[in-house]
Amino acid sequence: MGRDERGVTPQQEDFSAWYNELVAKAQLVDRGPAKGTMVIRPYGYRLWELLQDELDRRIKDTGHENAYFPLLIPESYLRREADHVEGFSPELAVVTHAGGKELEEPLIVRPTSETIIGEMMAKWISSHRDLPLLLNQWANVVRWELRPRMFLRTTEFLWQEGHTAHADEADAMRETMLALDVYAEVARDVAAIPVVAGEKTPGERFAGAVRTYTIEGMMRDGKALQAGTSHYMGSNFAKAFDIRYTSEAGQQELCHTTSWGMSTRMIGGVIMTHGDDKGLVLPPRMAPYQVVIVPIGRGEQGVQTSAAARELAGRLRAAGVRTHVDDRAQLSPGFRFNDWELRGAPLRLELGPRDLESGTVVMARRLGDDGKQSIPLSSAPELIPGVLEEFQAFLLRRATEFRDAHTVTADTWDSFTEAVTSGWALALHCGEPACEAGIKAKVAATPRCIPLDGAEESGRCVLCGEPSAYGKRVVFGRAY
Ligand SMILES: [Zn+2]
Repeated sequence: MGRDERGVTPQQEDFSAWYNELVAKAQLVDRGPAKGTMVIRPYGYRLWELLQDELDRRIKDTGHENAYFPLLIPESYLRREADHVEGFSPELAVVTHAGGKELEEPLIVRPTSETIIGEMMAKWISSHRDLPLLLNQWANVVRWELRPRMFLRTTEFLWQEGHTAHADEADAMRETMLALDVYAEVARDVAAIPVVAGEKTPGERFAGAVRTYTIEGMMRDGKALQAGTSHYMGSNFAKAFDIRYTSEAGQQELCHTTSWGMSTRMIGGVIMTHGDDKGLVLPPRMAPYQVVIVPIGRGEQGVQTSAAARELAGRLRAAGVRTHVDDRAQLSPGFRFNDWELRGAPLRLELGPRDLESGTVVMARRLGDDGKQSIPLSSAPELIPGVLEEFQAFLLRRATEFRDAHTVTADTWDSFTEAVTSGWALALHCGEPACEAGIKAKVAATPRCIPLDGAEESGRCVLCGEPSAYGKRVVFGRAY
């Protein structure tokens, strides 16, 4: 069969077409009827659930509690924080009619929940003993999207949003960095995306935040993906919503708040960090099926290998391995192999009559130089968890090497320009918003972050030659 039916456009030919075809052919998503919306299909939703489990556990382990706040927010709430409403206005979906009547006050469909949670925080906090207040919500949000791309930019998406209130700046900043650490750990250890953690420049801050931190991953086309953000709001929202507490000294004080979010965008990140021309490559910790067993053989032999495959699947599942048996006997083994390569299963086990006779099964990794390998059927459940761990580590290593090979320390405008066509530039910058805008206009690159672990360095701005800001180099790149 030709590419139209089975394969996807090669990455080198058109990365964007590769991505769009793959998310559909791997049955992750479909288009929703309303502009920019996506239907997340079971295979894609399982990916999200697995990521969600890992993230939710860490959120709870660090002392946060889940709650749920309404989808509909009075318009006046958003107006209370001037920068916030200005930043979000172009993306808002507004309900003006309900129950057959025009509403007295329009309602906003939640784009993010700082305002409504701020209102409730003000109600729930009165004393220093009520602090810190550590909340998290799993929800959908709506931000009107004119140029939608599945998982990356959709009008409605799924996420978690953490919202916390603290007695002072120091405690709120500790929280902001804690959330960022959790995100970086989930990205690296679960999604195998080697993110760079850092602070956003003022021009890239969240609407209403004092400081915004981010984790940025490099995709296989060299572009950056912002994979999670954590914001220190100062007292901006506390002032707007009157979130105050009585201190130990009996004084009325304003709280300091934070918010932080990670979304279904991460699935797009996994696809673009690991995928290749054959399809998805899923890190075992996020793979709906870590192992797919393909029994081979016709007639009575097929019956025997299918039975053995199901028996093996049972033992693998008992060992904690997510296993699927693809016994679609009407499809050739080759077709089924390709199908699971397209869908990114980390390990495939091929079980034919001769393997069964010799008590072995053929193991093929989705990626890497190890080739096919025969392993004993009896000890497969002891061997495979280790193979999956190695594969998980291999993907992180491969992505790290790719990122490092496509990151250039740029001291001249020429080298900067070249670097951002295929990856990232580490450059000194003056910090002026107009100069940032100039870079964006010339080469479509933006400051992704000021890396937390960057070495101290000063000099001249790579574009305008003015003295550099921030005391270190900034990561620049084109971004999703
Ligand atoms: Zn400059």
